[in-house]
Amino acid sequence: SVSTRARQTLRIGMIPADGIGHEVLPGAKAAIQALGSSIPKTEFVDLLAGFEYFTRTGTALPEDTVQALQNDCDCAMFGAVSSPSRKVAGYSSPIVALRKKLDLYANVRPVTSVASSPNEKPDVDLVVVRENTECLYVKDETQIIGPNGKEARAIRLITQRASRRIGEMAFKIALNRPRKGGFKHLTIIHKSNVLSVTDGLFRETVRAVPTLPGVDGKYDSVTVAEQLVDSAVYRLFREPHIYDVMVAPNLYGDIISDAAAALVGSLGLVPSVNAGDTFVMGEPVHGSAPDIAGQNIANPLAAIRSAALMLRHLGYTDGADRIERAADEVIREGKCLTPDLGGKSKTTEVVDEVVRRI
Ligand code: ATP
Ligand code: MG
Repeated sequence: SVSTRARQTLRIGMIPADGIGHEVLPGAKAAIQALGSSIPKTEFVDLLAGFEYFTRTGTALPEDTVQALQNDCDCAMFGAVSSPSRKVAGYSSPIVALRKKLDLYANVRPVTSVASSPNEKPDVDLVVVRENTECLYVKDETQIIGPNGKEARAIRLITQRASRRIGEMAFKIALNRPRKGGFKHLTIIHKSNVLSVTDGLFRETVRAVPTLPGVDGKYDSVTVAEQLVDSAVYRLFREPHIYDVMVAPNLYGDIISDAAAALVGSLGLVPSVNAGDTFVMGEPVHGSAPDIAGQNIANPLAAIRSAALMLRHLGYTDGADRIERAADEVIREGKCLTPDLGGKSKTTEVVDEVVRRI
């Protein structure tokens, strides 16, 4: 993408896509705009993609959108995409495609509790670092008729290259993030008692990151543990405070982060960024929520926090802090909350409240 410094403006691609994506992304935009002069001048570039767009046009991710992101934007915000549970001919998920095309190899999902509401566990302060390009998401599936009838298979791809770069990202996050209590701890999630070849490679490769040339003891302060994914979910629910950074192959990372979202009370609170070496895209962890779409009741805080994460990734720490602080205050105060958190407020009212505090 074009250098921000050269242009003196921050161009942000906005892809609401489907369902509540259209309702929560304006919140992210409003929060960024409320920062005023503490970040460079921003320009928002509205871009099309999604299942709704596919049903109208036959394309889920138009080439124009990809071109605009690659050539004309410094970063982007994505809303949510509907995933039909049955295969629809010609359709494949635009977010999965975007992650590949822009080489956004890491999905970084911080999950933190800020208030002691009844549906929240206290002391959750962790980050799930999910590999974003391979594992079962290569979507290489076949079905054959075998001697005993139908047989379906899926390829699960794990490479050393992808495992190494996600491992490096996870160690870097563990080293640098401020964590209550000050400990720096990385848990490698795997299932190598069953998948000893694929998960074995993932686990060994991540483990070996501190011994790579040039690391020179940089990660000595990070303690490392390994855990089977099933036992990790169990312990996550019983004692979430033991976790700091969790690094996982794509599918386990997806499941663990939805589970972690339950600990803090709502999917509508959990942000993420899709990050590569040259581009970053904020995206709330939740989906398009068809059950509540169009009612102005979706929680915008996950999208707003995703905007903060995106800014943090670009180095605008102060702007990110201000957005996050405002969101935390609104949650802690508990007066202006959407129904998923037991409140009666509308999406737009929560956005206004966050903006006022920024
Ligand atoms: P998709 O296929 O797009 O993922 P889904 O049916 O799985 O759709 P999700 O968006 O994943 O729906 O949401 C799962 C549940 O969490 C739904 O009941 C939804 O209403 C709720 N939910 C998700 N996001 C939010 C939000 N931002 N605010 C309030 N509730 C939410
Ligand atoms: Mg979903």
